[in-house]
Amino acid sequence: MAAIRSVGVFCAASESIDKAFVEQARLVGSLIGNKGLTLVYGGAAAGLMEATAAAAKECGARIVGVFPQVLIERNRVSTLLDERVVTQNLSDRKDNILSRSDVLVALPGGVGTVDEIFHVAAALTIGYHSKRVILYNVNGFWDKMLEFLQGLQQQGFIRARFDALFGVANNIRELDALLDEGC
Ligand code: AMP
Repeated sequence: MAAIRSVGVFCAASESIDKAFVEQARLVGSLIGNKGLTLVYGGAAAGLMEATAAAAKECGARIVGVFPQVLIERNRVSTLLDERVVTQNLSDRKDNILSRSDVLVALPGGVGTVDEIFHVAAALTIGYHSKRVILYNVNGFWDKMLEFLQGLQQQGFIRARFDALFGVANNIRELDALLDEGC
């Protein structure tokens, strides 16, 4: 396995969430910075995205924000970015984040995050790439989705090896260990 150098992070844009999630996002950002990795993410000055990027930057990470033109028009782009990548729309943004990252990590999030997780997993199942999504499962956030996915596999709807599609980190130590495994 090759060493991981860049981590794509998917996470909530919402600000109306429990502060415990903000703390967890900061932990993930700090981990990325302390490991000397590059953070690739949605680039918006909002929610867990900004919390992750701020902590990552404080700990020395290079920060790459990938965002659609519409975010500039709405003045929502983070000022923390070392590199700005402007995309046409949300679809090419997902491909861009995917191609710039060695592995993807999904923090708690809403429909945007869920869309990003499945975009990466679906592309893997038909062989476009071999990058998995690590679900950062703090407080069992992703448990219900994992249960649903495991049911799909048991019934034969998912044929790929589950651990090739998804990793699960229940806390920051487990995430650290999975990132050390490489890609
Ligand atoms: P959500 O999980 O619905 O809060 O969406 C957040 C995720 O989707 C992030 O990982 C972003 O890449 C993308 N996204 C959705 N909405 C926005 C937004 N308003 N600004 C920036 N990125 C967004």
